[in-house]
Amino acid sequence: MTDIYSLTYDGLREKLGSIGEKPSRADIIFPAVYGELAGSFDGLPLKEETLDTLRSEFSFGAPERLQTLTSETADKYLWRLSDGCTVESVLMKHEFGYNICVSTQVGCNMGCAFCVSGRLKRRRDLILSELVGQVVGTVLHSGIKPGGISIMGIGEPMENLDNVLDFIGIMAYPKGFDIGIRHITISTCGVVPGIYKLAQSEYPVNLAISLHAPDDELRGRLMPVTRRYPISEVMYAARDYSERLNRRITLEYVMLDGVNDSDECAVKLAELIGDMNAYVNLIRYNPGENSEFACSPHERIMGFYDTLKKHGVGVTMRRSLGDTINAACGQLSAGSSDT
Ligand code: SF4
Repeated sequence: MTDIYSLTYDGLREKLGSIGEKPSRADIIFPAVYGELAGSFDGLPLKEETLDTLRSEFSFGAPERLQTLTSETADKYLWRLSDGCTVESVLMKHEFGYNICVSTQVGCNMGCAFCVSGRLKRRRDLILSELVGQVVGTVLHSGIKPGGISIMGIGEPMENLDNVLDFIGIMAYPKGFDIGIRHITISTCGVVPGIYKLAQSEYPVNLAISLHAPDDELRGRLMPVTRRYPISEVMYAARDYSERLNRRITLEYVMLDGVNDSDECAVKLAELIGDMNAYVNLIRYNPGENSEFACSPHERIMGFYDTLKKHGVGVTMRRSLGDTINAACGQLSAGSSDT
């Protein structure tokens, strides 16, 4: 049996052809699977014989929901995958609407020093049906259809980009979730080849780069990926993305007390950005268990904010959603196997 969530629209057409059905039936099946989240083929306007074929060829393999933690600003979901590995996704309740944040890998090998998720060794990439399943499962449980998707849960999306691009295609499919490309954001810790590949893809989504430091020395201590891709290369790729697609880049910057939050860092950051079409998103740090870091005090964050502003840099401050249930940035921690 083929998991229907493992197929793109084109993949479904191909599969239908291979089992002797008309590929055009995808135009009936895909909207039912994603627009109505039917979970079965019952009631589709197709001959009973065709429905029987579909039932014998396809399954609906959404992951098993193990746990949901809810708070006013976010609901965190824990899912068990078919091999027993677990992943987390988050339904974020913004003032302007709902957003689902999905994980892309079981664990993460990037080793960012401030990240709880990064302490879990990467076991594997998520396959397409597991990316889609996080959204389908969240929508079915919550009854809420999201207005946006953030690909910034556990894992580095650029290391699993082919599946992530297929996932974006399904999320953006007009008769399905119909999420506008401009409401989908992919976040990377700075995997440069992935940024170029994304720029050439058919999905010009929002690009967020987790920068967190303005020079290689400090960034290398916080984010080992800097040894592979120094800041100059990351910023060059970001500028290319921005200019090629005429998009504003988000530079994520987590505020770590006494580490990266000085005015000197803010000035260096402003110089690094220069005239690039980018803005900085300052994030309040949510220390996980045994974290060696603390969040910068509010006054320091405001000082950093003001220095960036004074140097002509666009800057926002992200409201920290879900920190009471460990669902905020860098706090997702599933990624183990319980088999
Ligand atoms: S911040 Fe992202 S890339 Fe870095 S360790 Fe955590 S999950 Fe991995």
